[in-house]
Amino acid sequence: MTSHLAVTETLLGGCGRPVDTMGMRIKVNVVPEPPPRRRRDIRYPERGGTVVVEGSFGDIDLECGVCGSQLVRTAHEWQLGNEILACTRCSAYNELSRRR
Ligand SMILES: [Zn+2]
Repeated sequence: MTSHLAVTETLLGGCGRPVDTMGMRIKVNVVPEPPPRRRRDIRYPERGGTVVVEGSFGDIDLECGVCGSQLVRTAHEWQLGNEILACTRCSAYNELSRRR
C-alpha cells in the first residue's frame, strides 16, 4: 500500500498537477470552511499524502477542485458519503454530494 502512495506522489510531481495516466478524474466542488456543526463530516488523509478515500478496483477518482491533488482513488460509490474531504496540500474543503 505504501508503494502505491509513493507512486501517486511521484505522478503528482512538485507542481501539484497530476500526470494524466490513470484515466479520467473528476474535480470536486470546493466549499468555504464548514460551520462547526459540519466539522464531524470532514475527513482527512489517514496515511499521509492527499488521498482521503482509497478504494480497490473501483472506478471513481476525484481530485481537489483547487489544486488537483488526488483525494479519492479507485473507490466505489458506496465508499463515498455526504462528507467533506480536506485537501492537505492547499487546505481547500471539497464537498461530496451523494449521487442517487
Ligand atoms: Zn487542494
